[in-house]
Amino acid sequence: MARTILITGGSTGIGQALARHFAEGGDAVIITGRRPGPLKETAAAVGARGLVCDHTRPEALTALLSELPDRIDVLVNNAGGNTDFDADGADDLASYARDFRANLDANLVSAALTTKALEDRLAPGGAVVHIGSIASDQGAGSYGASKAGLATWNLDLAGRLGPRDITANVVAPGYIADTEFFRDHLSSERRDQLIAGTATGRPGTPSDIVGPVGFLASPAARHITGQVLHVNGGALMTR
Ligand code: NDP
Repeated sequence: MARTILITGGSTGIGQALARHFAEGGDAVIITGRRPGPLKETAAAVGARGLVCDHTRPEALTALLSELPDRIDVLVNNAGGNTDFDADGADDLASYARDFRANLDANLVSAALTTKALEDRLAPGGAVVHIGSIASDQGAGSYGASKAGLATWNLDLAGRLGPRDITANVVAPGYIADTEFFRDHLSSERRDQLIAGTATGRPGTPSDIVGPVGFLASPAARHITGQVLHVNGGALMTR
């Protein structure tokens, strides 16, 4: 039976690669995003259904629910990014609070709200996969804190969903090129530095994330839950 897979933020980058992968595998794929243009384009290109939604907004999620099927097999909480790249540079305390909260909203609250909204529809044998980040172990201010919070919050989620035979894990990428993540904020020096930090000597690509997410969503990974799977070419090593 074809699975129904919801990928948040599926118009570009990692989410788009995931949408293409699951659709090619015969799954029914739904992608979301805030900008209708890229969403429509990607949905048509990969054979997915595109639904506009801002995952930081509860009312948008309530509206999304009315468009979604009753059963979701796999939820990929991919929407997010470092909102500091869009900040206006103001340094007063009120701006700091606003910008800090923006990252928490974009990466942590969005995933928690989406999962909460869909929790009753998640099917036994299913999976929730969040896209975390190497930043949760390496800093990066409120962005890193938001992704660290996501991994910690996932522990509780995994415990809650486990009895229903639903897994919940985080895939934490290192530097991934060919996405809209960095806007125009990545200097060639910083890029070289990020690549030099890997053992593989190359940037990651969205396709590097596809296999790990596909695995965690597959029948082969039913006893893996509450984990963080690092995908960074060795830029962060664990034991
Ligand atoms: P992209 O910017 O290309 O993808 C992010 C997607 O999420 C966009 O399509 C964006 O579309 C969507 N999105 C963002 N916020 C929301 C929201 N509130 N509601 C709905 N959709 C949203 O970058 P990546 O593919 O690189 O990022 C995917 C994930 O990977 C992110 O969570 C990011 O933090 C993480 N990551 C990326 C790394 C990298 O080096 N690229 C490294 C580590 C983690 P729209 O603006 O239209 O809503």
